[in-house]
Amino acid sequence: MKAITVEPKKPGTARLDEVPEPDPRDGSVLVQAIAVGVCGTDAEIVEGKYGWAPPGKTRLVLGHESLGRVVDPGPRGPLQEGDLVVGIVRRPDPVPCPNCAVGEWDMCRNGQYTERGIKEIDGFMSERWRIEPEYAMKVEPSLGLLGVLLEPTTVVTKAWEQVVTVGQRAFWEPQTVLVTGAGPIGLLAALIGAQRGMDVHVLDRVESGPKPQLVRDLGATYHTGAIADVGFEPDVIIECTGVGQVIKDAIRGIGAGGVVCLTGVGTGGSTIGPAVADVAAAVVLKNNVVVGSVNANKRHWYKAGQVLARADHAWLEKLVTRREAPEQFDQALQREADDIKVVVQFGEA
Ligand SMILES: [Zn+2]
Repeated sequence: MKAITVEPKKPGTARLDEVPEPDPRDGSVLVQAIAVGVCGTDAEIVEGKYGWAPPGKTRLVLGHESLGRVVDPGPRGPLQEGDLVVGIVRRPDPVPCPNCAVGEWDMCRNGQYTERGIKEIDGFMSERWRIEPEYAMKVEPSLGLLGVLLEPTTVVTKAWEQVVTVGQRAFWEPQTVLVTGAGPIGLLAALIGAQRGMDVHVLDRVESGPKPQLVRDLGATYHTGAIADVGFEPDVIIECTGVGQVIKDAIRGIGAGGVVCLTGVGTGGSTIGPAVADVAAAVVLKNNVVVGSVNANKRHWYKAGQVLARADHAWLEKLVTRREAPEQFDQALQREADDIKVVVQFGEA
């Protein structure tokens, strides 16, 4: 069968490959691929900056934002032939650490977790894949292709849970949220904010393309420019850019008692600006919390399914801005101006 594979840490090695059928040891559920979303992590792996092949192999099957249809549900579990499913990405570390031991693999403490399509387990960019029944999440059938948005939705579902959990330390009824960055993660974070009945604001650099209208369609307000100019002090900021200046501005712009949740991963940037102690003093004097959030455990996958099921499907459809055939996977990895979520499509939903 065909699969998109890469030799991790070696740039320019990604290709559409011929690989053996999925190994039954990968799981008793056999799935026909429909689509796989592409994100910054995939681009980093293809550029040779990230990723690990499975033990004993040199190449890794790429892809972690999956959607497929069950061909063979196997002998156990609740799945049926024809079900739409998405594969959970991370597996607990083998030690396991205390968090992995209780099913919180998203909070793994020793870093020995594995991840499909990223770290030591083949991903989902293959015509067929196998998965353990307990790691296959059934998707609401009416979502169809939009089920491919489940994985990025789990990331923001966890982020929101972190914000709400942290907020319980004191009396706190957050009304306003500012989301920085209107990519797929930011827009899905804004969707959840709207579903929570909050006054939602989204800040991004672009002034044209689909993002401003997508934000307005949520009943939210779109901003460009600096956080200092949004005109209010947010109760919650969900930071989705990973850009140093935006992070600094977020920490300085958050309202008293507010929570800044960092979900973006960046590097470098300018070291010019307010000194660390000055930023910290603002955090102290306003009782702020800055919390980092990555990945998701099964509870977040379940909740993310509910978020997508009750979202306006026509709105979700506008997030998938481009579909490329597996033969054109290199084009899928190229970022174009109006891209939000690009998917590699293997079949019809
Ligand atoms: Zn662990």
